[in-house]
Amino acid sequence: MKTPRTYSASCHCGSTRFRFTGEEIRTGLRCNCSICIRKGMVVSSNYIRASEVEVEGQEHLALYQFGDKCMNHFFCRTCGIAPFSRVASLPPDYTGQARLGDYRVNLGCVHDLDALNLDIEVIDGRSF
Ligand SMILES: [Zn+2]
Repeated sequence: MKTPRTYSASCHCGSTRFRFTGEEIRTGLRCNCSICIRKGMVVSSNYIRASEVEVEGQEHLALYQFGDKCMNHFFCRTCGIAPFSRVASLPPDYTGQARLGDYRVNLGCVHDLDALNLDIEVIDGRSF
């Protein structure tokens, strides 16, 4: 069984800090959907359950939604960095792993992690 690790993370200016626990991060995702391609970030391969995440400074984050509003895209009002998004709704026929409130973390925000040195998978989110 894998030992869970706790990671510390923050936006660029540090207004928002968060910690989460999960398996050791060895992989990341990049995606070509309309928002990810613009942000250009590497995100967590897995969804992280809300119960595993502690956020400090949530009040410094603004919320962006678009389209079917299935994700809540948060970004810092001061530095503009998007530290994470959260699952806001799931289609009735959804059979994947996400649950409401799950986090998808911007791995560039994670301290002591070299996000570009992970095993990065590029997914074709544009055609989902
Ligand atoms: Zn910030």
